[in-house]
Amino acid sequence: MYDITIIGAGITGTFIARELSKYDLKILLLDKENDVSNGTTKANSAIVHAGYDAVEGSLKAKFNVQGNKMYDEVCRDLDVPFKRIGSLVTAFNDEELDTIQCLYQRGLANGVPDMKILSKEEVLGIEKNLKDTVKGALYAKTGGIVGPWELAIALAENAVENGVELKLNSPVTDITKTSKGYRVVAGEKNYTTKLVINCAGVYADKIDQMVNEPTFEIIPNRGEYNLFDKSMGGLVNTVVFGCPSKMGKGTVILPTVHGNLLLGPTAADIDQREDTRTTFEGLSAINDHAKETLKEIGFQDVITSFSGIRAKVDTKDFIIGKAEGKVNFINVAGIDSPGLTAAPAIAEYVVDLIKESKETLGLAFGENKDFNPRRKPSIHFMDLKRSEQIKLIKKDEAFGRIICRCENITEGEIVDVINRKAGATTLDGVKRRARPGSGRCQGGFCGPRVMEIIARELDLDMKDVVKDGKGSYILTGETK
Ligand SMILES: Cc1cc2nc3c(=O)[nH]c(=O)nc-3n(C[C@H](O)[C@H](O)[C@H](O)COP(=O)(O)OP(=O)(O)OC[C@H]3O[C@@H](n4cnc5c(N)ncnc54)[C@H](O)[C@@H]3O)c2cc1C
Repeated sequence: MYDITIIGAGITGTFIARELSKYDLKILLLDKENDVSNGTTKANSAIVHAGYDAVEGSLKAKFNVQGNKMYDEVCRDLDVPFKRIGSLVTAFNDEELDTIQCLYQRGLANGVPDMKILSKEEVLGIEKNLKDTVKGALYAKTGGIVGPWELAIALAENAVENGVELKLNSPVTDITKTSKGYRVVAGEKNYTTKLVINCAGVYADKIDQMVNEPTFEIIPNRGEYNLFDKSMGGLVNTVVFGCPSKMGKGTVILPTVHGNLLLGPTAADIDQREDTRTTFEGLSAINDHAKETLKEIGFQDVITSFSGIRAKVDTKDFIIGKAEGKVNFINVAGIDSPGLTAAPAIAEYVVDLIKESKETLGLAFGENKDFNPRRKPSIHFMDLKRSEQIKLIKKDEAFGRIICRCENITEGEIVDVINRKAGATTLDGVKRRARPGSGRCQGGFCGPRVMEIIARELDLDMKDVVKDGKGSYILTGETK
């Protein structure tokens, strides 16, 4: 019997799993997909928000500000890219100047440090590529950018290294109450557990309703993006928000941690929870925003478009707590933006919530004496000194073979991410961890080579190597 079963290995589930791995508990982390972070966590703006946006007194405001402060340490420990580059909310007219004043006041109420209202000259001093019609901006020094899926993968890897059991390809289809807790049916297997934590993103209401009366409903809401080549990455230095409107936080123009430029997102309620298509209207709207905001931008340098789905609820706040009348079922639901930022603080809160009922649950919560907060550092061959590169190639000649010529990724790095705990098993899984296929050609050249390496390392037939989700086959059979 497991002590705790977490459903969903996105950023909230993986943060909670790692936090719980500090204790001597038997923990199970389940996900329906074939990789960690294949839900909303793999498609968002990747911003670590400062915290002036959420309504004061809300859980969003509380966990955003707390979570933001926790990012430096966790990203250092887990060797995940994170840059505190600061954020701007730009104002182009008098009404928007009033809005940024309101955001500033809200930020103060939420406890956001290091904010300032900037004059036109100050804004243009930071962002030279903004149109001269800008009238001012709210600057928040603590705003940052992170690799969201890299973080979730690193958290899962570290959690597994510290004793958590991760089971992928395990869709939870039923949960029933037992005398000691629950029986969870996932991927045609039965698991018994004392406590369930529901971190199932856009399906959190469905999981909750397997054992509880309906109290909330997830409204899927899609956000679309355009990602640009690294040649455009220097167009802005900070996270540049447009002024918020009823559409949400406002469209953003920002560099990514790897030096690309990202534009987006839109916000539209949709019917299907996994409808991640992009639309002409959506992408045109974000492009128009960029044209109105920047002096210069080249749309010929868009290398891919994508979308992510927010798990919205009508209360517009996170739903975090014990299900009604139960100490052994915890919902972590409605985690839309700023869920990525808030996740480390949510994890601490959830663990405290479980500790409150530890006697009733029969959980000792002894310390895991072997807990190691750090994971094995990842290898970035091109960032190494020449002498270190030579040493590595002497140890393993796979580091001497470049597979992805856009991003300069070696075979050694690809083999490493396949063979780690919570390692990659798909083409996009390798891409998310080591970045082959993230460059200008989007895997056109290196894709087949990466597939060969996956097949060889995991002893699979090439035909069985998928692009990303289940069934996303690339090859159907031999032609000659
Ligand atoms: C367009 C957009 C922009 C955003 N920008 C930001 C931002 O810049 N900063 C920020 O802080 N936040 C941002 N967010 C919010 C942030 O991305 C989310 O809050 C966060 O990723 C939610 O993580 P999660 O783990 O709760 O959900 P998910 O990542 O969706 O994880 C849920 C997991 O549950 C699994 N699952 C579902 N059903 C089952 C089942 N039946 N059995 C087993 N497993 C199941 C799924 O496969 C999935 O892996 C944005 C969101 C969107 C959509």
